[in-house]
Amino acid sequence: MHVPNQYIGEEGIVMEKPAIEGGTPVRESKIFYGHQYIDEADIQAVVDVLKSDYLTCGPKINELEKKLCEITGAKYAVVCSNGTAALHIACLAAGVGEGDEVITTPITFAASANCALYCGARPVFADINPKTYNIDPASVRERVTEKTKAVVAVDYTGQSVELDELLALCREKNMVLIEDGAHVIGTRYKGKANGSIADMTTFSFHPVKTVTGGEGGAVLTNSEELYRKLLLYRSHGITREESLMEHTSDGPWYYEQIALGYNYRMTDMQAALIISQLDKLEMFRQRRKEIVARYNEAFYKLPGIVVQEEIPDSDTTRHLYILRINPEKLTINRRQFFDALGAENVCCNVHYIPTYYFPYYEKMGYQKGICPNAEKLYDEIISLPLYYAMTDEDVESVIKAVSKIAQYYAK
Ligand SMILES: *Cc1c(COP(=O)(O)O)cnc(C)c1O
Repeated sequence: MHVPNQYIGEEGIVMEKPAIEGGTPVRESKIFYGHQYIDEADIQAVVDVLKSDYLTCGPKINELEKKLCEITGAKYAVVCSNGTAALHIACLAAGVGEGDEVITTPITFAASANCALYCGARPVFADINPKTYNIDPASVRERVTEKTKAVVAVDYTGQSVELDELLALCREKNMVLIEDGAHVIGTRYKGKANGSIADMTTFSFHPVKTVTGGEGGAVLTNSEELYRKLLLYRSHGITREESLMEHTSDGPWYYEQIALGYNYRMTDMQAALIISQLDKLEMFRQRRKEIVARYNEAFYKLPGIVVQEEIPDSDTTRHLYILRINPEKLTINRRQFFDALGAENVCCNVHYIPTYYFPYYEKMGYQKGICPNAEKLYDEIISLPLYYAMTDEDVESVIKAVSKIAQYYAK
């Protein structure tokens, strides 16, 4: 009898066909790779601000900065309009300028390199570790020149970069370590929260990230000197502190602009939302860890699937789950795997296109081939759904879809 939904697999076992081959999709409704979680407390927190005297630069800003310090153990926090602004003011505070070089990874969102360009510096791409997918300290070392001012190290997927190695290298070469921690909130490195270790750590509160404010960012540091600079660059380069002024004050209204800064302020509505979300961080962390553990357990056994290696030093809260395929063990490539998941109603994404592949970078002279591990990774990855509000059935349907496809197309 011909059963369109099935095929006979190895050892005569009856298997389900992938939907793209005429089988039934694992789920009827589409699931996407990320989604925010907003509860009544979050909504009330924003409404309370709307009914208050301050919509921006009010009490919620200090409250959030204090909370970020408590959570991470950092001495200072400066919140700002988004994660990209955070990277920009971190580079400015680090003294990055015209003619300097900043080393970063190509497996990241464009902002990690663009922040160097904003300052007139040149991004230099170091390769990744092929197993953890994070920037490889040895490759960073190879790229250091006299012009290197800073390293922007991205905790890709939420797994901490090797902070001790990178910090030692930065001290040796007189560079500033900026940790792009857009994915890392909730992670601990050697028992200490990320955010308290690098010279500066930036966070993003974009809706796909673990904690959201709609938009929002922060820079954390233990250095008072960097903290003061960050405050200036966040707000036009303007100060009201007399000790910083060059002229004598004309009166209580007086302030001075002493540097060229920006308007990168966060509103109190965003701050209130982020504070309320941070109350749920432990809950978010636990659920994400559970889902990742379930995925790993299911995928380790599958043909043609590679699981991201975890370093023992990082107690990771994953922002992204990366499914990596081994094209030598499958009859299909990443694009075909991605489309087959889509046919199952599992809607994925890819993080990230190597930054220097973009035409804007190409035109500046960057060429393919400079980071072979990163380029190979890009050809083989798919970001699976991972977010707090996923139900167990959602998780199982994603696993079923991946398993069906990997088994059907195994070589
Ligand atoms: C999201 C993200 C950013 C930028 O954050 P925004 O808040 O969207 O500006 C920077 N770096 C990485 C690695 C990111 O994932």
